[in-house]
Amino acid sequence: MRIRVIGCSGAELPGHNIPAFLLDDVILFDAGSFTNVLDEKAQLGIKDIFITHAHLDHIRSIPFLADNIIVGKAGRKISIFGIPPVLSAIKVHLFNSAMWPDFTVIPHPHDAILNLVEIKLNRSLRVNSYAITPYKVSHTVPAVGYLVEHENGRRFFYTGDTGPSPRTWKHVGSRQLHALIIDVSFPNSMRDMALTAGHLTPELLREELDRIPFLPEQIYITHPKPQHRKVIEKELKHMKLGNLSMLRDGDIITV
Ligand SMILES: [Zn+2]
Ligand SMILES: [Zn+2]
Repeated sequence: MRIRVIGCSGAELPGHNIPAFLLDDVILFDAGSFTNVLDEKAQLGIKDIFITHAHLDHIRSIPFLADNIIVGKAGRKISIFGIPPVLSAIKVHLFNSAMWPDFTVIPHPHDAILNLVEIKLNRSLRVNSYAITPYKVSHTVPAVGYLVEHENGRRFFYTGDTGPSPRTWKHVGSRQLHALIIDVSFPNSMRDMALTAGHLTPELLREELDRIPFLPEQIYITHPKPQHRKVIEKELKHMKLGNLSMLRDGDIITV
């Protein structure tokens, strides 16, 4: 599996894109920033988008993708996968004909550009060669991480935004992960802020890793606040984990 890191930042500043991860050019995990990064052809290659939660930094590019499909007369349909509270927030607060045209009924209610598809916690969904399973994580709003398993046996877990989530690892941790993409948004000095906002610090990451019976082969850090990136990087280095690295926009992960 090849994952293109389109955005992996916990805030938007020049040179720092908000979360979007493209798997094998066709499946997108989170949709923060991709319409400002991918050209039209690449955008139209995306068929399925899995959303971890409805925070704006994880969904912002969806309205612009829908617009590009209409304008480009591309005739594409996109499936947006999420747990019910996530899809409901997207529908009520974004595609409500006030914030943006309701592309869940355009051009026709039975043939709309966006198809919102409900998924169930802990239930695998088969998409092409992948089994994709949402597991609840702890954040300030309903949120999941996604376990992605290729039929060739390789698997990774993407947490989306998460604070400490012991129960998640009970589900996910019984299987060897070949890659873990996990949120570390704040430095250790901002532990309280991290806990309030449903994120991790390097120390909190360490506590999470201690809960996973099989340490993932590779650990990739996502969602750092750019203002604190250097401190976070230093604190992560002190953990002396050889298989851990901080992602950058544009990185390619091979799982
Ligand atoms: Zn969030
Ligand atoms: Zn976020």
